[in-house]
Amino acid sequence: MKTLSLRARLTLFYSTILTVILAVFGFLFYDALGLVLENKLTAELRDRVVYLAAFQRLQAGEARLVFNPNDRREAYLVQSAARYYQVFQLPSGVLLVQSQELEMMGARLSPEEVRALAGAQEFTDLQLETERLRFHNAVITGNNATSFLVRVGIPLTPADEAQRGFLRSLLFLMPLGVLVSALAGWQMARRALNPLAQLAAAARKIDIEKLQQRLPTRGTGDEVDEVAAAFNETLARLENSVGQMKQFTASISHELRTPLTTLRGEAEIALLQASSVEDYRHALTSQLEEFNKLSHMINQLLILASAEAGEIQWMERSVDLSGLVGSLVDQLEPVAAAKKITLETNTPPNINVRGDASWIERVILNLLDNAIKFSSEGGHVRVSVKAEDGDAVLRVADTGMGIQAEALPHIFERFYRAEPSRSKQIEGVGLGLSLVKWIVDRHRGRIQVESQVGKGSCFTVWLPLASASAGR
Ligand code: ADP
Repeated sequence: MKTLSLRARLTLFYSTILTVILAVFGFLFYDALGLVLENKLTAELRDRVVYLAAFQRLQAGEARLVFNPNDRREAYLVQSAARYYQVFQLPSGVLLVQSQELEMMGARLSPEEVRALAGAQEFTDLQLETERLRFHNAVITGNNATSFLVRVGIPLTPADEAQRGFLRSLLFLMPLGVLVSALAGWQMARRALNPLAQLAAAARKIDIEKLQQRLPTRGTGDEVDEVAAAFNETLARLENSVGQMKQFTASISHELRTPLTTLRGEAEIALLQASSVEDYRHALTSQLEEFNKLSHMINQLLILASAEAGEIQWMERSVDLSGLVGSLVDQLEPVAAAKKITLETNTPPNINVRGDASWIERVILNLLDNAIKFSSEGGHVRVSVKAEDGDAVLRVADTGMGIQAEALPHIFERFYRAEPSRSKQIEGVGLGLSLVKWIVDRHRGRIQVESQVGKGSCFTVWLPLASASAGR
């Protein structure tokens, strides 16, 4: 089933609420109106009873209303008060007098009913065919200790009719009111939602080529503006990411083109110039080096791509950083020795960090590899580990060529290679440090570099200690 639009749902919602409120209040008023009118009629009935008492003459076997027929006002008042009037003798229940009105309505009572009424409440209601009457029942003791049941009535019809009239108006006006307010609400919802429709139209015009566009904000600071601002922030992030991706693609193309051009050039020269098996062997050896570089670069790229796509396996557990540094230093010792570089370590035991051992190993290896690679003969590389303020601090310092100040902010970018490593053709593709940075970030750590050209570089990595990060 198709869901209703927000506008329709809003309108339906408050129309329903309005109907319920109107109905509840309407029926409460209906009840209260009936009660007030009946109370008013009951008060008038009491007045009639008191008034008639002055003209009542009751004696055994006879009940009369005695008044001066020449006094027109008195005659009118007594007769209208006694329009619904009955007197019964007690305990026999014999009817002594009954007004014409009641006679016609057939409101006769049996002796049992009379006796029952004598001991009952002061007021009783009687529903006749045409009218509903309220009676005041009073037992009066006359001469010779004879008792009478005197009943004076009043029609409740005016109250009933007023209530019915109110109900009719209510049933007519309530749907009308709900309809009018629903129409007004429908219009209001349209006006309130209009800015959202405008946002949707503006958002539809934005595509990958136009990510610099932004949704319009009205400056009201309301919810719609908030949505637009949030969307604009997302657009800014997307623009940034897409920009990075574009730059990345451009960099890859550039980086692939160079070795491929070299390979092609070498192949062409070999085809044109090589005359002996030795020449071909030489050309192929040189190509092999380029192939190695290419496959190294593609491997690094694949690792980065799968890391960023979140496809990598991540085994988070306590990692013995001191032990890891020790074994990697041992592993690289021969490489350093071949370049006559001394490797020194200062790693107190049992410094554990929380994370994935193989990824942390990659961080240490990349830093050590760079330190050896960018140092010249007779250089020193110092590796130290210590615990400080809940973090393990890994420091790799070398006495190599150093990095120029303007290159420092870029060395963690992909494919970035600072001078002179680029121009001097020192082996590398510029992906190692961006992977290192990604791994450190993923471990909720940070990395920092200090360097002076000609003096050396020092990379410092902070990783949360296993015990400190366990509670995070
Ligand atoms: P690669 O080592 O493959 O060139 P990296 O991402 O590891 O790429 O490093 C990026 C650049 O940062 C290097 O090309 C180099 O210019 C600079 N760099 C990194 N480590 C050092 C270091 N220890 N000494 C001097 N320069 C360094």
